[in-house]
Amino acid sequence: MLLDANDLDHGAVLDADLCIAGAGAAGITLALQFLDSGRSVLLLEGGGLKRETDVQNLYAGTSDEPLADGYPLMSRLRLLGGTTNHWIGACLTFDPIDFTARDWVPDSGWPFERSELRPYYMRAAEVAGISPPAFDDVDPTLFEGSMIGVKQTQGHARRFGEVYREQLEEAPALRLVLNANVVRVALGQDAGSVEQLDLATLGGKRLAARAKCFVLALGGIENSRMLLVSDDVQSTGVGNAHDLVGRYWMDHSGFPVAAVCVSDRDRTLVTYRPQGGRVLRLNEEIQRRHRLVNCGLMFNHVPLIEDTRHALLRDGAWQRLAPYLEDSGIRPESSLLGRFDRHRDDKLYYRRFSLLPEQIPTPDSRVTLGTAEDPFGLRRVHMQWSLPPETYRTARKTAELFAEDLGRRGLGRVAVDFDALEGAVYQPGFHHMGGTRMHPDPRQGVVDGQCRVHSVANLYLAGSSVFPTSSYANPTFTILAMTLRLADYLASRLGREA
Ligand SMILES: Cc1cc2nc3c(=O)[nH]c(=O)nc-3n(C[C@H](O)[C@H](O)[C@H](O)COP(=O)(O)OP(=O)(O)OC[C@H]3O[C@@H](n4cnc5c(N)ncnc54)[C@H](O)[C@@H]3O)c2cc1C
Repeated sequence: MLLDANDLDHGAVLDADLCIAGAGAAGITLALQFLDSGRSVLLLEGGGLKRETDVQNLYAGTSDEPLADGYPLMSRLRLLGGTTNHWIGACLTFDPIDFTARDWVPDSGWPFERSELRPYYMRAAEVAGISPPAFDDVDPTLFEGSMIGVKQTQGHARRFGEVYREQLEEAPALRLVLNANVVRVALGQDAGSVEQLDLATLGGKRLAARAKCFVLALGGIENSRMLLVSDDVQSTGVGNAHDLVGRYWMDHSGFPVAAVCVSDRDRTLVTYRPQGGRVLRLNEEIQRRHRLVNCGLMFNHVPLIEDTRHALLRDGAWQRLAPYLEDSGIRPESSLLGRFDRHRDDKLYYRRFSLLPEQIPTPDSRVTLGTAEDPFGLRRVHMQWSLPPETYRTARKTAELFAEDLGRRGLGRVAVDFDALEGAVYQPGFHHMGGTRMHPDPRQGVVDGQCRVHSVANLYLAGSSVFPTSSYANPTFTILAMTLRLADYLASRLGREA
């Protein structure tokens, strides 16, 4: 059933077995799992069916550099379907190493291994409308015995609101309520459980939602903000006894500072298609040996330039590679150019690519509350994005090792503009992650391994705010897999409590 909070009575109390706040990728995916479950579900969405300026403006906030003040407003959407209304749809699994604790990556390690998510990734593919994902490297012969692995992305920009609206509307036990803004997580006086979510409309109505279990799926910034602004029972906010809410916030950043040139024979290496392309990365053993974070090498969405041997040589960046190749024992002139001599008659293909390092988690990178308030009287968000300098070292070393390996195999040449890399201003990728990190120990994480807020018996979080580390891979496919895992857990919990 589809309802609009504007049409409900002021003071109305809605109840259900399960209440999900936020109808974006995570919230809709979760709700879909309960359509035939015999459980009543409330799906609360702050926006409507279309983007409206006053609603979208609820997302406005401020940021410290390098983020622009417009970042909180522009990098997400507040309407049914959430940010999937303008996502690109690139889907990629995280790597096994992304889940492991690495002593050179502070605060790394998830409470489970990737194998735990494998069946959920398979189901997530159906939700996202893509083929089953490749978990292992594709094209193993291309880089056989190499330090490089090749992963395949798929892209399908499914608009969750449009695609799933009818199913949600027609489900008898589900009420999807539009324009229902959660304005407070109301804890009981003992602070051990949620009594209700307070709701408000921009027209001035106040309502409430009550349930056995509550899930916040408000996105990778708003999950933190909602816990922080709900500070009436616990002065530091919900689940924030250890000052962790909002911290360890992450985004992906890319450095479009490298170029690759390959011969006709290996053209597939640089083939880019928006609906699915290749991402290269160093294998786990090399990452461990050099103590590097996981870093993708992704070809950019620019036309493939053919026959560009001269263009590449004119590009000043090329020469800057030389000193770094000396370290690896390869003389750039002889070995790299020599490799191409073997393909003298081939066409050459040239493409720019980006280095996409995983962000190293740090408590200083955070979602906080600013001084300005939104129309509901809630403090607006203030973002502080901080990237440890080690990130530069990883990007640089990854590029060097990649170049070395590619040259040694005669597959191509890589030019990296290291000066540009050193001076690069981080550009955010609009992949909001962290802020309510998952860890079994309440002193190290806001939610436990089942995504339940440690101190609150019936409050769960869905979405990338729970990610302890960020990988280089786009987050939404993992959001979907994690949400399906949460759905299974909640189904069994509600079953036990019935
Ligand atoms: C331009 C762009 C391109 C992207 N491309 C990709 C890509 O190719 N691949 C990829 O993996 N990711 C991509 N992303 C990121 C992707 O969109 C997000 O990871 C994903 O949408 C997050 O899902 P979510 O459900 O957690 O949050 P959202 O989709 O943002 O959903 C949150 C929902 O909560 C609602 N809400 C918020 N506050 C309240 C409140 N107080 N009360 C009630 N409801 C509320 C919102 O209206 C929204 O519907 C892209 C993002 C951008 C901006």
